[in-house]
Amino acid sequence: MCGIFGISDNKDSSKLTYVGLFTLQHRGQESAGMAIDSKNGIQYYNGMGLVSEVFSNDMFQSFRGSSAIGHVRYSTTGSSNVNNAQPLFFNSYLGQTAIAHNGNLTNADALRAKLQKQGAIFQTSTDSEVIIHLMAKYHGRTIEDTIADNLHKLEGAYSFLFLAPGKLIGARDPNGIRTLFLGKLGKSYILSSETCAIEVVGGKVVREVEPGEIVVIEKGKIKFKKFAKAKETARCVFEQVYFARPDSVFSGRTVQSARYDIGRLLAKEIKNVKADIVSGVPDSGTAYALGFSEESGLPYKTVFMRNRYTGRSFIQPDQKLREFTAHLKLAPIRDAIKGKTIILIDDSLVRGTTSKKIIGNLKKAGAKKIIMLIGSPPITNSCYYGIDTPTRKELIATKLKIEGIRKFINADALHYLSLENLIKACGYGKDKDFCTACFTGKYPTKVSKLQTKTVNDK
Ligand code: SF4
Repeated sequence: MCGIFGISDNKDSSKLTYVGLFTLQHRGQESAGMAIDSKNGIQYYNGMGLVSEVFSNDMFQSFRGSSAIGHVRYSTTGSSNVNNAQPLFFNSYLGQTAIAHNGNLTNADALRAKLQKQGAIFQTSTDSEVIIHLMAKYHGRTIEDTIADNLHKLEGAYSFLFLAPGKLIGARDPNGIRTLFLGKLGKSYILSSETCAIEVVGGKVVREVEPGEIVVIEKGKIKFKKFAKAKETARCVFEQVYFARPDSVFSGRTVQSARYDIGRLLAKEIKNVKADIVSGVPDSGTAYALGFSEESGLPYKTVFMRNRYTGRSFIQPDQKLREFTAHLKLAPIRDAIKGKTIILIDDSLVRGTTSKKIIGNLKKAGAKKIIMLIGSPPITNSCYYGIDTPTRKELIATKLKIEGIRKFINADALHYLSLENLIKACGYGKDKDFCTACFTGKYPTKVSKLQTKTVNDK
């Protein structure tokens, strides 16, 4: 998963993009980059690390342009190195263009192989680069025509930003699996993965970019065009469950409200369980626990000291680092724990190893019993759309039934939220069209058998 942010027609575009990326930092911490539309054409700067490490205050003296796009990366395809950092830049018949991509293209390998046979020379190992070669090869009258014509060839999940001299363009996949929002700041338009970044730079959220829609901003004017229509809308439900910032708005309500409701619904699902306190695994579990407390009347207590200076455990790319970071970042608070039966809520259970460690630490610190609640159903399928779930055989719910998982994580009881209630908490009004493939195996787009086999059998 990655974060993208772009702003048009603003003399401070690079600084505002820095702030936007800083706000989206939770979406990717491996690399950051920015491209600007300057007097000397499109310029770009990418580096490994956090936004604050890649960019310095001094560089904004000279790195200035009328519009800018930026990217923070967490790799789900291609390795974690500066070569794969985005925005990617290319110079073709179409002129200079920079692109930033969030999501995963499920047919990227097939497209890459075909393009390579035809002579294309790839510079990176990311799936995102295929759109560059498609655009260079099959170009239309304008860059927006070229983009619209080539997006049809992509399968999977994507939000794209394109920056060309005088133009900022955004596009979202036909199913709307990945997010993209439109905002306004004075005369400038903003495109962002989440609404929180639009608001932090002082802008107003206008609306979601529609699934299958392309947005073209040129000379202060905006045009919209539908380039494709999918049979179903399938927003990734994991944005609300885990990924997005609590102050971002999805489906008309903040992520925080959806997480509160998940907690309330969990409380309704397990009415007669006896415990002393309820708590959550930070960060998302905290909102679940507060919702649970409100519904059940059980007191909420913080049971962990969270070290804020470590990365998010789920998005560290390597398993060893992930386990080490999980251990490092949550230290039990003994007084709150000793002799207590604790209802502990987490957003999801993937491999089970982190929960096992956390429960072990709480018990070592004196907890009497741990009743583990999960704010989403068992994950039984890999995600091919840009969320870093592991291969199927690493998912604990593909190997063990709920009682087996309970024993493995050493909880005294274990309960998962039902899919029905997850959708109820995350949906709003009619807006209930979610991708739930990691729980159900019903993928909203074609996922090739070969890919499923390769990923699952690794
Ligand atoms: Fe999100 Fe799961 Fe669908 Fe992936 S499979 S897009 S994580 S809901």
